[in-house]
Amino acid sequence: MKAITFHGVGDVRAERVPDPKVVDPTDVVLRITTGAICGSDLHQYHGRGGTLVETGAVMGHEFMGMVEAAGPEVREVRVGDRVVAPFSISCGRCEWCLRKLPTQCSTTGRAVFGGRFGKVFPGGQAERIRVPFADYLCEKVPADMSDEDALFLGDILSTGYACAENGSIRPGDTVAVFGAGPVGLLAMQSAQLFGPARVFAVDRVGYRLALAEEFGAEPMNLDRGDPAAELRALTGGRGPDVVLECVGHEVPFTQAIEAVRAGGTVSSVGVYVEPSMGFPAREAFFKDLSLKMGICNARNYMRPLLPLVRNGKLTPARIVTHTIGLDEAPRGYAIFDRKEDRAIKVMLKP
Ligand code: NAD
Ligand code: ZN
Repeated sequence: MKAITFHGVGDVRAERVPDPKVVDPTDVVLRITTGAICGSDLHQYHGRGGTLVETGAVMGHEFMGMVEAAGPEVREVRVGDRVVAPFSISCGRCEWCLRKLPTQCSTTGRAVFGGRFGKVFPGGQAERIRVPFADYLCEKVPADMSDEDALFLGDILSTGYACAENGSIRPGDTVAVFGAGPVGLLAMQSAQLFGPARVFAVDRVGYRLALAEEFGAEPMNLDRGDPAAELRALTGGRGPDVVLECVGHEVPFTQAIEAVRAGGTVSSVGVYVEPSMGFPAREAFFKDLSLKMGICNARNYMRPLLPLVRNGKLTPARIVTHTIGLDEAPRGYAIFDRKEDRAIKVMLKP
């Protein structure tokens, strides 16, 4: 089959690789109908945190498709079902999965599709994929829902929603979101469900800030000054009640802590690939703030968020800017990375 493989910094290629097969009795193989390129794929593309995937590995963890083959112990999903899976691979049975922390699964060692943590499973920027623990991981998609609406349940919509939920936004709050990429934009959509009075969007990319405005946010170009100081100035000197960090770098993380009001909440979902970074401990301590950060347990959110998408309360498909074939994926990575051609979310059709 055709797949996107990793060959080094800035080098992904469409290549032929062996077809996946059912290996364990609880596996399915999906024929992928839609995949996507995630901001997390860009960390690998940049070579951040060392090489996270091996040369030749199949990339990608955002995918959905039709069940083409199922192992003998798969009970809930059947050949022909249309399903979406979360980005992380978990058994559904270990202590961590039972604690509703499936990203910490001890059976797979925190595995992620297309990643090299724990057990290695090829990714979803491909024509087909092997999905282990299929009964636990696969969420059936109603026939009247488009791929564009369903796909993001497995990663960035669940992540954006979890980020907003972890911010403990109350009606009337002021919220600031660092990052107006796919995750930040969906965090803004999700934040609106909690009834904030104001939402600020901080980024430097004009066309992304313009979409943030359509999602009810007030745009702030971070290159015009210190966004933390500007956010405090715009909130009577006190700072936003809640700051959502959706970038994954030290600077916006620090600014989120500097911006938030005393006793406020910083919720961070940006991926920190390096083992450590600076942390403004004194500021955080004297502010008495709450901090929640971490990888998203997307499996927990897929089922509850699906009806919100189906009923139009969340409209994730609005961030899609490009739909291209697998052969064009190297260009898709380049424009998504460089913010060219007004790229926000690049979808891949095998
Ligand atoms: P993206 O790279 O398209 O978005 C990042 C945005 O942040 C860009 O628009 C960029 O212009 C902006 N930005 C850069 N520096 C900034 C700064 N100093 N202040 C404010 N904005 C700044 O990627 P994305 O797909 O939206 O992903 C965002 C982050 O979320 C990535 O780190 C990704 O790895 C992470 N992520 C985490 C999870 C999880 O489980 N926690 C899941 C998916 C993605
Ligand atoms: Zn992702």
